[in-house]
Amino acid sequence: MSEQIRRVLDDVSTVLPWELVEVFSTMPRWEPKDVNRSADEIVSRLAAHDVPVTVLEPELYLSIPFSAEIRTADGTFRAKPPAYSVNMPDGLEAELVHVPAKITNSISTLFDKNQDKAASAPERIAGKIVISEGFSFPGKVLEFERNGAVGVIAVNPGVDAHWGICTSIWGTPDLDDLPRKPTIPVAAVNNPDGKTLIALAEQGGRAAIVTKMEEGWYRSKLPVVDIPGQEQPEKFVLLHGHYDSWDVGVGDNATGDATMLEIARVLWANRDKLKRSVRIAWWPGHSTGRYAGSTWFADAFAIDLDENCVAQVNCDSPGCRWATLFKDISWMSETESYVQDVIRDVTGLDSQGERPHRAGDYAFNNIGISSFFMLSSTMPDELRAEKGYYAVGGCGGNIAWHTENDTLEIADREILERDIKVYLAAVMGVANAEVLPFDWRATTEEFLATLDSYQAKAGDRFDLSPSVAAVTELASSLEAFYAAVADGSVSKEAANEVIAGLARILVPVNFTRETRFRHDPALPVPPLPALATATELDGFDEQSLGFAKTQLMRGQNRVVSALRDARRWVDAVVG
Ligand SMILES: [Zn+2]
Repeated sequence: MSEQIRRVLDDVSTVLPWELVEVFSTMPRWEPKDVNRSADEIVSRLAAHDVPVTVLEPELYLSIPFSAEIRTADGTFRAKPPAYSVNMPDGLEAELVHVPAKITNSISTLFDKNQDKAASAPERIAGKIVISEGFSFPGKVLEFERNGAVGVIAVNPGVDAHWGICTSIWGTPDLDDLPRKPTIPVAAVNNPDGKTLIALAEQGGRAAIVTKMEEGWYRSKLPVVDIPGQEQPEKFVLLHGHYDSWDVGVGDNATGDATMLEIARVLWANRDKLKRSVRIAWWPGHSTGRYAGSTWFADAFAIDLDENCVAQVNCDSPGCRWATLFKDISWMSETESYVQDVIRDVTGLDSQGERPHRAGDYAFNNIGISSFFMLSSTMPDELRAEKGYYAVGGCGGNIAWHTENDTLEIADREILERDIKVYLAAVMGVANAEVLPFDWRATTEEFLATLDSYQAKAGDRFDLSPSVAAVTELASSLEAFYAAVADGSVSKEAANEVIAGLARILVPVNFTRETRFRHDPALPVPPLPALATATELDGFDEQSLGFAKTQLMRGQNRVVSALRDARRWVDAVVG
């Protein structure tokens, strides 16, 4: 870390961010009118520190969940409807059927489908209300709906039911997305009530899901601060996070909003030291619109992002109590060693990360932007085990996540200060790098490991060697490129064009199935998704194997073509 960045970190204070955390801890921020009012709290604090802010006001399509309950002959159970459940104020009644599902203990598998496949069969669940363990995540709800279930009750792991969102559509739907909009009521119950309802299902009992929802277009405030760089103002790092939350959402995500507020204040005061620009955005519509705010921004500013954004950095759930570790941190391979260095320089801690999930305002994968951070620091596994905590998607591992317990006590002022410094150093380091600090050799290594495991599963049924050859060729071109950058025979300008440009090719091929400028569904995406069918060939009989191989042939063409494009780009500057 440069001396200059170290000095800027000394300007970080927790006075302004903690004030916002405290204010937000009294403000529920999920109903659109409350969300817009809370934007004013961010904007007025920026103004008080003379930081110029633009408030965009997109119309977002949102689903606002008000209340839910489950009625049976024996009584009524408290429930929470996820956003995008269907509105069913008079209740939908049907026979219950239990589909067992595993509850995961790890964030790495939190979003995976985990329900029993045979028990999910249409002949078993059609016309019935499915009751199943876990959260009301879309992969699950979509499969039950497609197999004919008329409602879904999610049995959450603990004593509290969690809010969430059950649509697989990423952001505001377009015409192609609309057929995937959920058409059934969904509700989450806590574990004790869930067990009672599962017992009822086992006896062939009936239940009614009652939900009160409101859905439509909502004008939503989206504050953006642009801190211009001195040398290349058009190039920018995007730092972003959501400011709407479930209830008062302190750990998820008032602490993140406060982090970005302090970074805006400090960077604006130090703007004479920035080489590239830093753009900071606070999103509405994250919770009730499946990242509708960030997705709208990705659409509305797609060409600017495509031509000028050098990295996107998501800020969710920093500064939570007991979050002493940097573990399961989201980073794309090319950013890994850079992010590890920053975390070590600022905190003295080693860190461990993972491939970013298809979640958390990562609305920029289809455009193709190098990305790091989603959730932030987290508590140790031993502490979670000691407390009997299950895996959650935020709040540093605190199970107050997405419940009314996500209050002021979930935030920790000292941890917040540390995390603000980590984010600030990481963002400023990219903005000021002479040569962008991303190493695509790590990505080609990742690709080779992916192809290796895919080939092992495919056996002799499909040959991935053309993909392996294309990766190997790209890897050798990258060796020559990084050597030429190091010895100065490639100019810094040309190097930066290539390093940022490769993201437009290699991020989409590794993280998306859809084309650029669309948005993949909010469902897990395997590495090199066009080739992932190679891992599933055991599931095909002789008759249908040909369809899978056809899929793979087309997928391989996409991968090889992308890798060759990437290589041509690299070779063109190395000469
Ligand atoms: Zn969040």
